[in-house]
Amino acid sequence: MTGPSRSDGFDAVVVGSGPNGLMGALVLANHGRRVLLVEAAGRIGGAMRSEELTLPGFRHDVGAAVLPLALASPAFRELRLTVDEVQWAHSPVPTAHPLANADAVLVYRELDRTVAELGRDGPAWRRLVGPAGHQPLVDALLSPLSPSKALRAAPALIRYGATGVLPAAALARLAFREPRARAALAGMGAHSVLSLRAPSSGGYGTFLAGLAHSVGWPLVVGGTENLARALAARLERAGGEIHTGTTVRDLRELPPARTLLLDLTPRQLVAIAGDRLPSGYRRRLSRFRYGPGVFKLDYALAGRMPWLDSRVQQAGTVHVGGTLDEIAAAEADVAHGRHPDRPFVMCVQPTVADPTRAPAGQHTLWAYCHVPNGSPADMTEAIEAQLERFAPGFRDLVLARHHLTPAQLEDFDANLVGGDLGGGSADLRQFVARPVLAARPWSTPARGVYLCSASTPPGGGVHGMGGWHAAHLALRD
Ligand SMILES: Cc1cc2nc3c(=O)[nH]c(=O)nc-3n(C[C@H](O)[C@H](O)[C@H](O)COP(=O)(O)OP(=O)(O)OC[C@H]3O[C@@H](n4cnc5c(N)ncnc54)[C@H](O)[C@@H]3O)c2cc1C
Repeated sequence: MTGPSRSDGFDAVVVGSGPNGLMGALVLANHGRRVLLVEAAGRIGGAMRSEELTLPGFRHDVGAAVLPLALASPAFRELRLTVDEVQWAHSPVPTAHPLANADAVLVYRELDRTVAELGRDGPAWRRLVGPAGHQPLVDALLSPLSPSKALRAAPALIRYGATGVLPAAALARLAFREPRARAALAGMGAHSVLSLRAPSSGGYGTFLAGLAHSVGWPLVVGGTENLARALAARLERAGGEIHTGTTVRDLRELPPARTLLLDLTPRQLVAIAGDRLPSGYRRRLSRFRYGPGVFKLDYALAGRMPWLDSRVQQAGTVHVGGTLDEIAAAEADVAHGRHPDRPFVMCVQPTVADPTRAPAGQHTLWAYCHVPNGSPADMTEAIEAQLERFAPGFRDLVLARHHLTPAQLEDFDANLVGGDLGGGSADLRQFVARPVLAARPWSTPARGVYLCSASTPPGGGVHGMGGWHAAHLALRD
């Protein structure tokens, strides 16, 4: 590798500038370490980049768009980003779930309003979802527990664990009597990228729904990449250096440093660390499982989405897939390596919260569905049929579309292995052992080498906690 410019060398080198790499680098720099951050792509941010993918003036989030985890994250809270650095954009309604034969379900920021929206199932939603967004529980799920934190969070953790370990489909049937609330929980649970019949998919659902009530589901004004830029600017102010356009193929290419933080998944770690890792650890890493991929579409639209229930136009995120049974069948297909005819479509209407993303009066739409890992299938037709089903006339508004297959996503960011957006399956086994079963899962047997990506606890999403934990561990070591 050429180019490291600090004449006095570096204390730490970070490989990869996703939210975890940036956060890890920033923690180290804020503790006085001389940090070099090396990134393969031409721009920093990892899956937090934004581009004009369709037409000039239409700015799309290539990867992450909706960031409740960043607002809830202890690492981001500690940074206290100012409005001059990042502006958050909240849609009037965090999320909505349209249905073919009933009113859509709107999940409002206000718990009381959502309880009223759900009628007979409102009180059950309050009991199940309300406490899931409370801070002690959120902190406990994102950070390791100190004894004092554990004590404070214990009742909430016990209650959350008792239901959270259940499959989302079973939890929805147990907790609710009406199809509307059941469908709403199914849409939330599908964020786990697991079959809704898989253990712990219910916990993802209640956790994310809880965050809608506690912190909201915000976007970043101008695109998620602005959050990456804010972190990079902080890093540079703290003396860190950033080199983009540099793919690391072997750890020996890096300048000498006591600490290496790798924002990579296990497969890449094995490839670039080679025999610096003992064979037993490499074998354990080779058992790490990647999850399904995503097929992503971005649209430039001439007008607002013509949802059957016009209230859905107020929602930032829209879960498109119909009833609990329909979503469970679609996600079960994907889990079994099949392509659903009627996929569950994760949909975001960024311009509802942030009109700067498109020319006046026009809109952007962000959508993806899950597919088997690495699938080459073009899901455009299936996704658009689902959008037409709940928003008839949608196709007439399309000015331009752009798609990304799992392979194209992996070209964009090598951590998206086979299109897996979570850095590895979020199943129960890898909830506990990520990437391997260990008391300090961020450290590796190679002295000074730490893994900090979404393949470490607490897993996928923009929260920076993998980087935060790995950096603090390195500082302690
Ligand atoms: C389509 C999509 C939608 C998503 N939606 C959301 C959402 O709405 N909300 C949310 O919270 N999360 C979302 N996510 C998930 C979230 O973006 C990721 O979980 C998160 O970005 C993981 O962060 P990371 O730092 O671990 O890795 P990444 O963000 O993947 O960054 C890894 C970085 O490492 C670099 N790199 C890899 N190999 C090398 C190498 N050999 N040398 C140098 N650099 C290297 C890559 O180029 C990349 O920049 C989405 C992801 C995708 C793909």
